[in-house]
Amino acid sequence: MNNQQKNILVAGAGFGGIKCALQLHKFLKRDKALNKYKIILIDKNREHIFTPNLYETASIVTKDCCNAASMNASVAIDIKDIVNGKKIEFINDHITEINIKTKNIKTTNNQLDYEYLVLALGSETNYFNIPGAREYGFPLKTLDDAIKLRKKIDTFFYTPAKTDIEIIIGGAGLTGVELAGEFSHSLEKIKKLHRRQNISIKITLIEANSTILNNMPEKMTTAAEKRLKKLGIKIITKAKIKEATEKFITYEQNENVRNIPYSIFIWTAGIKTNQLLEKLNIPKDPKNRIIVNEFMEATDYIFAIGDIAVNISAKNPAPGTAYMAEKEGKIAAENIWIKIAKKKTVKSFIAPADYPFVVPIGGKFAIAHIKKITIKGYLGWIIKILVELNYLLSILPIHKAVKKWIKTVKIIIKND
Ligand SMILES: Cc1cc2nc3c(=O)[nH]c(=O)nc-3n(C[C@H](O)[C@H](O)[C@H](O)COP(=O)(O)OP(=O)(O)OC[C@H]3O[C@@H](n4cnc5c(N)ncnc54)[C@H](O)[C@@H]3O)c2cc1C
Repeated sequence: MNNQQKNILVAGAGFGGIKCALQLHKFLKRDKALNKYKIILIDKNREHIFTPNLYETASIVTKDCCNAASMNASVAIDIKDIVNGKKIEFINDHITEINIKTKNIKTTNNQLDYEYLVLALGSETNYFNIPGAREYGFPLKTLDDAIKLRKKIDTFFYTPAKTDIEIIIGGAGLTGVELAGEFSHSLEKIKKLHRRQNISIKITLIEANSTILNNMPEKMTTAAEKRLKKLGIKIITKAKIKEATEKFITYEQNENVRNIPYSIFIWTAGIKTNQLLEKLNIPKDPKNRIIVNEFMEATDYIFAIGDIAVNISAKNPAPGTAYMAEKEGKIAAENIWIKIAKKKTVKSFIAPADYPFVVPIGGKFAIAHIKKITIKGYLGWIIKILVELNYLLSILPIHKAVKKWIKTVKIIIKND
């Protein structure tokens, strides 16, 4: 052990944290500075979660929902595989406190000092205090959420009595739309696996805004709406969910209040920043996000990236996406290295107004938006799986990335 080494702590091994730690390693290794600085990556989970595939886990076509390996395969990447062979120490622990004055953090089992701290702790489901939403709604934010939801679906197929399934999804953003589309395909297959074709399934999306995929280009929302309708999914827009009870969802639309019955209620309508930030004495915006400058700095020694950070002075504040978190992670890493190496230039992050994304909607169909071009259908789906390969190659050794990707694609094809 080298007592002279100073710690650079990266808190959270999500999209932003992983990219930040890897990039830091690259710079410090190149400068032969790894004997002076120790990169420590901390996460409460042992696996890095590829959230864009969580809907695949929630709707996986399998008769064996208790088989953890098959449930995890398309989304969970062992963090040890990512840091293996690199001088990045991974600590699997829960961060419970951050002390800015004393420059240390507390975890369930330890206390760690830092020279630089990168906060990349992500977001949580926000129920906006809607009565019953937390109690009756299934969230889809973590792997655990996806597994619980998938297990709930199975209960209908193991009940001897025929119970039709009415799925209500609150929120028609990316998560809600992708999940609705996937359910329309995979649930039919799951029905067959259980020989319960007599069960009918109805899926409804309820959205408070006037369109689904709010804030996305009109071309995308129109194409997505057309696809969902073709799949038989009902869309209710301009409708605010007011309450959830054990059997009904109450929503208000055009000043009319309506109740609809449901068998599964899924809540994908909002996120809020990590609760650890509530106690953190650092400038934050009204949404409790850490205010950073264009260099991703919150203070001289603290950087914040991804869903928990916002640059309020930016012309286009970065939306909370994996793509932005990755970019911000790399910028934070470079600026820490610049400070360490005492360079004169600083690297700034300007979020592009038009950024790439892919929305899969049931079967081998996705809508991809790249450089203002919208590609939909099978080609969009091919782009989706290639984007995943590209991501895996950026964080894992080639053989592991390809192996993981093949496994994932097999699951996706089976679901579709
Ligand atoms: C279902 C779903 C689908 C999505 N699909 C897309 C998509 O298709 N494209 C896209 O660009 N974005 C998508 N997103 C959004 C994307 O996942 C987030 O914007 C992105 O993960 C943010 O990255 P991050 O690094 O800020 O946080 P995260 O990736 O959420 O990582 C935060 C990490 O911090 C850890 N952590 C939290 N609290 C603690 C603690 N107290 N102690 C220790 N560790 C802690 C967590 O375990 C986690 O690993 C999706 C999100 C969801 C939920």
